[in-house]
Amino acid sequence: MSAQQSKQIPVHQVDLDATKKQVHPRFVRGLYQNIRLVSMYFLLALFLLLPWLRYDGRQAIWFDVPSQHYYIFGLTLFPQDFYFVAFFFIIAAFTLFMVTVYAGRVWCGYACPQTIWTHLYQHVEKWVLGERNKRIKFDKEPWSASKIAKKALIHFIWFTMSVITALTFVSYVSGTDFLYHSWTSISVIPFPDWPTWVWVSMFIFTFATYANAGYMREQMCIHICPYGRFQSVMFDKDTLIVSYDYNRGEPRGPRKKGTHPENLGDCVQCTMCVQVCPTGIDIRDGLQVACIQCAACVDACNEIMDKVGYPRGLIRYTTERQLVEKEKSRLLRPRLFAYSALLIFLISVSLYTLTDRVPLEIDIRRDRNQLSSINAEGMIENSYIIKVTNKTQQAHDYLITLTPQDGLTLRTRFSSLPLNAGESYDLPIRIIGDPSIVKKGQTQIELNVDSKDGQYHVSKQNVFTTQGQD
Ligand code: SF4
Ligand code: SF4
Repeated sequence: MSAQQSKQIPVHQVDLDATKKQVHPRFVRGLYQNIRLVSMYFLLALFLLLPWLRYDGRQAIWFDVPSQHYYIFGLTLFPQDFYFVAFFFIIAAFTLFMVTVYAGRVWCGYACPQTIWTHLYQHVEKWVLGERNKRIKFDKEPWSASKIAKKALIHFIWFTMSVITALTFVSYVSGTDFLYHSWTSISVIPFPDWPTWVWVSMFIFTFATYANAGYMREQMCIHICPYGRFQSVMFDKDTLIVSYDYNRGEPRGPRKKGTHPENLGDCVQCTMCVQVCPTGIDIRDGLQVACIQCAACVDACNEIMDKVGYPRGLIRYTTERQLVEKEKSRLLRPRLFAYSALLIFLISVSLYTLTDRVPLEIDIRRDRNQLSSINAEGMIENSYIIKVTNKTQQAHDYLITLTPQDGLTLRTRFSSLPLNAGESYDLPIRIIGDPSIVKKGQTQIELNVDSKDGQYHVSKQNVFTTQGQD
């Protein structure tokens, strides 16, 4: 059995020349390309449209970094809730690991932004210059007015797409209302009135999109993306991978239509699988780090097999166990089971934490300058600052109370504290202790905050001290 079928080509043996000529893939149609198009355009539409979605009169998904409020529909997160974001990324990472163990680099081929944007930018080239052969010919042509005009048109469209991408990225943070409605004028010419951080972000995202999708393309997947490098560690013998059936295809060679010479395999050496590859590799050389598992070569080869009257699947999604060991692949494997169990646990914990979360927070700080003092009435006084944060998306009135305790009373400036959605307030309060009742030293106290409508309640403990008055 060929080692090519059972082994991934190590990175050091792959053509990693970042200066090699630009790849001009031929666009192909087929089952997997249709699935890819649906997946890629769905995700693209989601990315572009989500910032425009409104919820309760506000941008539904808005990571308002300047005010440190992060809105996801009815949920408002604060910097203190950062652990939810950590949970989200851990769950996303383990989902990716699990999908990779089962279906290989399906993320790369069907959902990765690098793949989607590269695909779009290549489509612009195809729209302006034509199919693969014309693009290759165009590259070799000497500079002329027509070549400059076509290049300028491509770069203009690329740049416009990069700016739209940057605007969308930034709008998740700045908000669409601010981004598209802040205008000033320079010599009567309207000009965006954005703060520096918006300009800097716009520049970075525009440049990154333009460079990655216009120039870096597959070099990004081969040289920079860490996932591409370590994905092979996650593969096992039952991972789905796009593979060339070496035994069936070799020896390869051209032949007359409708014939199948006995000394040749099924590969008719049409090179169509290489021409359609967006990373410019030959899948017949074996699994390679540059292969993003887009299955364009599967669709292209199936089309050729149909034309020459051979069975489909010379290049196909298969597993090492099926292709090399001729055994049935196993769906249930220890690694998959471990990832699934971990994912179920993580999702359950985060859902429980999310549903159990009270959108009201208090923080109590003692007056650091003076532990306690005696007031004009001869009572012991402790001062605190109580910070109340309304984490809901509606205004609420809050009542602050002290859990009843002999000899202790609460004094505040306000009988109730009205707070707008997302608002915090530092309220100075005093606890008065009757020296004839309160025991010397420290006494545990509990402060409560309740919304007037009875929906939310939180409490927090602190201490009342007679220290300094003994
Ligand atoms: S597309 Fe199929 S038949 Fe053509 S070269 Fe590739 S593997 Fe061989
Ligand atoms: S070898 Fe096939 S699956 Fe891999 S990137 Fe190229 S076309 Fe896509």
